[in-house]
Amino acid sequence: MPKKKNVVITGGAGFLGSHLSDRFIKEGCKVYCVDNLITGSLKNIRHLSKDKDFEFINHDISKPISIKGRVDYILHFASPASPVDYLKYPIPTLKVGSLGSHNTLGLAKLKKARYVIASTSEVYGDPEVHPQKETYWGHVNPVGPRGVYDEAKRFAEAITMAYRRYHNVDAKILRIFNTYGPRMRINDGRVVPNFIYQALHNKPLTIYGKGNQTRSFCFYSDLVEGIYRLLKSNQSGPINIGNPDEFTILQFAKMVLELSDTKSKLVYRSLPVDDPRQRKPDITLAKKHLKWKPKVKLKVGLQTTIDWFKENIK
Ligand code: UDP
Repeated sequence: MPKKKNVVITGGAGFLGSHLSDRFIKEGCKVYCVDNLITGSLKNIRHLSKDKDFEFINHDISKPISIKGRVDYILHFASPASPVDYLKYPIPTLKVGSLGSHNTLGLAKLKKARYVIASTSEVYGDPEVHPQKETYWGHVNPVGPRGVYDEAKRFAEAITMAYRRYHNVDAKILRIFNTYGPRMRINDGRVVPNFIYQALHNKPLTIYGKGNQTRSFCFYSDLVEGIYRLLKSNQSGPINIGNPDEFTILQFAKMVLELSDTKSKLVYRSLPVDDPRQRKPDITLAKKHLKWKPKVKLKVGLQTTIDWFKENIK
């Protein structure tokens, strides 16, 4: 019998981390879910709490951690991830991307574990190359308000490469594009929960700017599959995982209106500072090396997400 794999998932009680926890439990692994619950929630992992292979550790990963015994995989997913959250927690965001990456890479080195850092399309900043390929160095404003997240993730990529190069840690860099689905926090401020909340309450949908900026939305289940394949592959990245179907925010708002039974209209608000004008992943590498591409169309995933919010925001 092959040994059960032991997996550490930081941010394991968050939106993506909790779906990853589910996946690794399903794969027969033992999951150590590390989260300090500043943006994550015990609600997301309640259904796992009785599983003997699931252990929740309430810990801020920007402080060192020790785990007894063998660790096979480490996925560093802890971080506030919505612009509203990381503006509310700028210093914890910088710390979890820098010190948190240092601590988790140190653990990977000690345990000889395979490592995945959750990086982001934000490392491309307000991109001047479209769609974004992994070779693009990006266009980030380090001193703007989003700099706390973007630079934390850029540092996380740099320290991951350093541990690869100097300590031979089997470390991989994943760049995640806008992802949505059940377990997003209704008040996290991102466009998906904001518009759904507004539509379900017959309030106007708040379009920032003219709504001609674009995003490409990936359903969580596609993302989880991509992450799993990256972990199991011999690829180290950086590799984009996202859905290349691109929409303007105005098109997206109209889709939310169409799929929700709502009387909501649209209102226009000012565009946040440094809000990227366009974003779309080039997924050539993921298709070629991971044999991965997204399956869930936006309309289908969005309907599932709207239905989930209907049930969960009473
Ligand atoms: N946005 C919007 N209305 C909202 C929330 C967001 O028009 O109520 C826009 C935002 O300005 C951005 C896009 O939607 O252009 C995606 O924003 P989000 O916060 O989801 O994530 P980002 O991709 O900017 O990290």
